[in-house]
Amino acid sequence: MAHAGVRTVIGAVVNSAGLTLAKSVPVARLGAFHRSGMGAAGVWHVFCADGAIAFTDSIGAVGDLRLRLDLDGLRDLGGGLAWGPADFFAQSGEPDPRCPRGLLRTVERRLAQAGLEARVGHELEFVLVAPDGSALEDTSWVPYGVTGLLDRESLLADLLAATDAAGIGMEQMHCEYGRHQFEFSLSPVAPVAAADAVVLARTLVGRVVRRHGLRASFSPVPFPGHLGNGAHQHFSLTRDGLSLFAGGTGPHGMTAEGGAAIGGVVRGLPEVQGLLTGSVLSGERLAPGRWAGAHACWGLENREAAVRFLRDGPGNPHGANFEVKVIDPSANVYTASAAVLALALEGITTGAPLPAEVADDPVTPPAGRQGAAAPVAVLPHDIPAVIDLLDKSPLARRLVGDGIVDTTVVTRRHEQTHHAEKTPEERAELLRLAWSV
Ligand code: GLU
Ligand code: MG
Repeated sequence: MAHAGVRTVIGAVVNSAGLTLAKSVPVARLGAFHRSGMGAAGVWHVFCADGAIAFTDSIGAVGDLRLRLDLDGLRDLGGGLAWGPADFFAQSGEPDPRCPRGLLRTVERRLAQAGLEARVGHELEFVLVAPDGSALEDTSWVPYGVTGLLDRESLLADLLAATDAAGIGMEQMHCEYGRHQFEFSLSPVAPVAAADAVVLARTLVGRVVRRHGLRASFSPVPFPGHLGNGAHQHFSLTRDGLSLFAGGTGPHGMTAEGGAAIGGVVRGLPEVQGLLTGSVLSGERLAPGRWAGAHACWGLENREAAVRFLRDGPGNPHGANFEVKVIDPSANVYTASAAVLALALEGITTGAPLPAEVADDPVTPPAGRQGAAAPVAVLPHDIPAVIDLLDKSPLARRLVGDGIVDTTVVTRRHEQTHHAEKTPEERAELLRLAWSV
């Protein structure tokens, strides 16, 4: 790294409030960052989106943790800067059970013990804003248009160069439905590596937009009344190299295990929803009709379903997978992947039944089929209730551990206590750049 001109190394973690935090060291200290780690107070777990600390009985001013840099994820970002993901450890050297990256690694290991391998493909949506976080001028905006691609041609080219140089697999970029909203999708890779790539990609977005005199909002609701930002994740599962979602006798080619995996996710989603859409802004995004996957069901290519199934075929080079659209960018990306994969594994090991498919748009069913089927339940957008359910869920606690549930509950309740009474505009403005890097 030093020979390549690197002077500074950033080691980043994401905490329970979805904030990206880091220590940085001179390159000569890289070995120490990896071996013994850098000090981080326990409160790193409970720093909140508004900058406050949600102290708990066990997390306070006393005590210290270590952040250890994972050298496998180290990337030279150019300009003398390198970046790597880090994990939380106790000073004794034991892994910290509240570490979201550690949790995802554990879930990956549990899958491997069951003979399964997962791939996760992430989508990143963000809205460009002025450096002070205010809205950009209302220029013409064509959803999915070429206009925005040309308006931001050099920014997007710089972003592509940066992700390329960092070894991130970029699948595609486009202008989203919202004004000044962009999206790009990353190639599916193993769960921890995929989440690391999201944290790094947000960092690269932050670096590139600054050079263009802008900032990027990764808030679930950058501007109230406008479309939100999702952080959709696509999941595929294989056993002995064969997809659980293709070549079977179930719906759209699913195998029995594939159906049970999806059954497990649909069944358990409400209990872990607080880990996917738990911020004080998240509920405002979850309205039906916004393609945020707000309905508690699954369906082939159904953008209103919490679990959207994508079948195998020539138009799908990465193979069959399911997409969880409810996840938003205020979630901890590691925890969100871990929760979904743990539910899928739970579904497989318990033989969860696959519920009936919802084939129509539950918001506006096609004429003639209106009223034919029972209305599809919408996932709760009352976030305090979502957080209470997470807190009380033995399933969530068993799948992701008490440490992750407790730190998430305490930071999200802090957001509610301090910001739920604000107007939607005040809340959105305060937190517009909280999840940006
Ligand atoms: N922006 C939408 C969301 O909040 C998603 C739009 C789409 O890509 O389907 O999740
Ligand atoms: Mg999108």
